[in-house]
Amino acid sequence: TDPVAYIRQTIRSVPDWPKPGVTFRDITPVLQDPRSFRVLVDLFVYRYMRQRLDLVAGIDARGFILGSVLAYELNLGFVPVRKQGKLPHRTLSEDYSLEYGNAAVEMHDDAVKPGQRVLLIDDLIATGGTMLAATKLLQRLGANVVEAACIIDLPELKGSETITATGLPVYSVCQF
Ligand code: IMP
Repeated sequence: TDPVAYIRQTIRSVPDWPKPGVTFRDITPVLQDPRSFRVLVDLFVYRYMRQRLDLVAGIDARGFILGSVLAYELNLGFVPVRKQGKLPHRTLSEDYSLEYGNAAVEMHDDAVKPGQRVLLIDDLIATGGTMLAATKLLQRLGANVVEAACIIDLPELKGSETITATGLPVYSVCQF
């Protein structure tokens, strides 16, 4: 079978979670199955193996799982973009709005050196708010964010469109 189709059909859709009317796209079955996990990581590896990159930045928490494996395979360093209050050293913070209320992402202020080429990765793009906040944070540290990569894009929410409009390319393995 087609690798993308195989991954797409392995993603679990959970109706009415975390609240009624929302369908949660759950990647844990993709990670659990050794074949789909390998196919998934290899898709990213083949896409980025010929690109000049310095670091992979993964977003808390599912972006850590993907991002660290990818960084290891590509012989790159990994840096975490964390939720507020988790990092012990000096941090930079970027606020963004959620449907209800606000959130913030944080990075250590020495996580990236100016000019470093960074691939940003998370499991899913919905409104794009999380990826955009992480991008701003990386750019404040002087990073050259090369692409925003995810497993799943929800194009109806127009997050990927918004991100692309800022000049940052988006790559998604599949769409729902
Ligand atoms: P955004 O900021 O609206 O683009 O939401 C994306 C963030 O919320 C990512 O960090 C995702 O992990 C998480 N997220 C939102 N919806 C889902 C979903 O259906 N499945 C998994 N993660 C989701």
